[in-house]
Amino acid sequence: MVRRIEVSGGSQQALRSLNEQRIIESLAEQGEMTQAQIARRTSLAASTVSNIVSELVEQGTLERKKNLGGPHGQLIGLIPTPGVVAGIDVGKRHLTIAFSNLAHEVIAEQQIDLPLGHEVADDLKRIEKLLNELCNRADLDRSEIHTIGMAIPAPIDLEQRRISSAQVMPGWAGIDIPSTVEEALGIPTFIDNDANLGAVGERVWGVGQGYDDLVYIKVSDGIGAGLVLNGRIYRGADGAAGEIGHTTIDDSGVLCRCGNRGCLETVVSVPAILQLASPIFGAEITIADLIDQARSGNTGALRLLEDGGRYLGIALSNMVNILNPRAVILGGTLAEAGDILSQPLHTVLKRYAVHGAVENLEFKRAQLGVRSNVLGAVSLALEHTPRV
Ligand SMILES: [Zn+2]
Repeated sequence: MVRRIEVSGGSQQALRSLNEQRIIESLAEQGEMTQAQIARRTSLAASTVSNIVSELVEQGTLERKKNLGGPHGQLIGLIPTPGVVAGIDVGKRHLTIAFSNLAHEVIAEQQIDLPLGHEVADDLKRIEKLLNELCNRADLDRSEIHTIGMAIPAPIDLEQRRISSAQVMPGWAGIDIPSTVEEALGIPTFIDNDANLGAVGERVWGVGQGYDDLVYIKVSDGIGAGLVLNGRIYRGADGAAGEIGHTTIDDSGVLCRCGNRGCLETVVSVPAILQLASPIFGAEITIADLIDQARSGNTGALRLLEDGGRYLGIALSNMVNILNPRAVILGGTLAEAGDILSQPLHTVLKRYAVHGAVENLEFKRAQLGVRSNVLGAVSLALEHTPRV
């Protein structure tokens, strides 16, 4: 017997407004989508999505945009409401801020260098100055910034709202980051790990569009991975998921900053590769120079980058065996090496991962480059921006 559950008028109304909110939030986070994509992303029935979209278009909250073709190809987007959100990417050595309007269009963006070992008090002044500069440029008042999303290059304990490992950015360790930023700037602030937001950035704005299961791996000064599983960022019980940089490659290898030996980061991060390069190429060599040397056929430079690709392939094949993502996206500074790095990586991945997990795996280079973190931070801010 099927039991019919009676829903009172009030609860029906509540359910409807909850569903409306889900659709608006998913468009805010993801940008324009077709109705079928909205249905998939919100897990709502196609008919429910169609009804709510029609109503919100009539109300002036949503608009029907360009048609990609076919009967269901019409994109639905939010009608811009006044104001912007700010995405902020605080790296070990850079600070990037991007403004987006509430319809998901980036309207201003700027990056400055940071000194190594920068401290939170100085950084807040730098952020304040850059926000004001961008406001001037975009002809905005500071009060028009609704929300800040912030990418931090360290594991984040979202419950404690702080960095859970102080080794990466000690100048920001031990504080409640959203409250500190909010107090200094007067704008509601949300944070996440940079690799997670890099994954979000690529999924919303770059080569990860349309993928519900992807691994984004960022190889720069450190190595981290952002995991999107079943369409959601997977953070793990304590926010430490995706710490692929500290998987063991050589148990008797070099001591790592995490306290273990021979972690992936000790053999393939930018500092690790430069250290290996320095006896031949000198201590001043940069990763861009080394990549140039490899492109012009220098065997030593080629060997270092190819070895790096192989080590990444070993760590990634373990991850692919466990998670079976549809796409792996390689980002960060080292991704600039292109095929020199990714070909040996791909060869190892195909050899070490089980056939079922790599058969349909798509391997991609991050499209947004260094912008993926800041755009992911924009998306985080948009997700948390209430709409009237
Ligand atoms: Zn380690």
